[in-house]
Parts: sequence; structure tokens; C-alpha cells
Amino acid sequence: MVKTISISTTSRVEFLDITSKIEDIVEESGIRDGICYIFVPHTTAAVTINEGADPSVRRDIIAQLDKIVPPRGDYTHMEGNSPAHIKASLIGSSQIVFVQEGRISLGTWQSIYFCEFDGPRTRRLIVKITEK
Ligand code: ZN
Repeated sequence: MVKTISISTTSRVEFLDITSKIEDIVEESGIRDGICYIFVPHTTAAVTINEGADPSVRRDIIAQLDKIVPPRGDYTHMEGNSPAHIKASLIGSSQIVFVQEGRISLGTWQSIYFCEFDGPRTRRLIVKITEK
């Protein structure tokens, strides 16, 4: 089962909690035991799994990424959004979660985040769930 969903981001840089969207897709699939692949088909967005309980963790990740990849630098990409491309590569364009007893098996404190680095935009997210 493959599903593409649309995600609207509202800021230039933001981490959007998509855990419930993924849970809904898993439920819709009817698959009880399998693997859920989450893929971002964009070059300036990414997907990660991290702390969901305390929003300061998200803020810290975003702030520290800005230090690793400064907004202004010696970039050659003409479009002017090289920091977004670099951050997207650092975070990565896919995640895998296991489906057990019809639910995604995240740790207690984990949430799944769509990471926007060059928004706001309407983005796509591809989710594939396979059995066993
Ligand atoms: Zn670009």
C-alpha cells in the first residue's frame, strides 16, 4: 500500500509533527504487522524522528542547524537556498518505522517530524506500508 499525502507548511523553517497522519495511514492500510516507509520527495525538506513531548527540543535542533549551516555563507547555488538543501541532506529524506499489532512502534518520547527548510510551501509525503 502506497499513499501520497499533501502537507502545507506555514513557516520558512519548521518541524511539523506528522505522527497522527502516519498512524491514520497505518490504520487505513489494515496491516497489523509490517514496515512503514516514509519518504520526502523534495530537496529542501526532510523527515526525522525525535522527542515529541517537549517542543524546546525541536527549537534547539532548528537553532543548532542554523549554526552548523549558517543562513549566509560562501554558497554557489544560484537559487540562494543552499542552506535548505544542506539541512535536508543532513536530516535525510526517509524514515522507517515498524508496524506491530496495527500500530507504529515508536518509543515513548518519539514523534515523527516533517522538516521544512524552505517554506512555506505545499509539500508531498509518500508513505508505503508493506506486510511482514
Ligand atoms: Zn535550490
